[in-house]
Amino acid sequence: MSEYRKDLTTCAYCPNTCRSGYAAAAPVQIESQTPSALSLITLAVLDGRLSLDEETRKTLGRRGPTEASVGQCTYGLNMPAAIDAALLTGTAHG
Ligand code: SF4
Repeated sequence: MSEYRKDLTTCAYCPNTCRSGYAAAAPVQIESQTPSALSLITLAVLDGRLSLDEETRKTLGRRGPTEASVGQCTYGLNMPAAIDAALLTGTAHG
């Protein structure tokens, strides 16, 4: 299993314990934009259950809470990097 898939799987089933690292003054955190949600969406793309169309790309581009998780992650993961690696590498074949 690739490193990014391991990270995505860990994050997808995590209850967003990095949430406290998201600044209170930042825009309201929308559940579908949490690192966990973006990980689930990315896994669905990798597994061919979701098309990487414009809407999906737009959704995966809403990175505010995911960027804020870097340095706050319980597992020490860098989820923006893992999502980028998955989208670059995991979908390169089609
Ligand atoms: S970034 Fe880390 S702490 Fe946040 S949801 Fe993902 S695995 Fe959990």
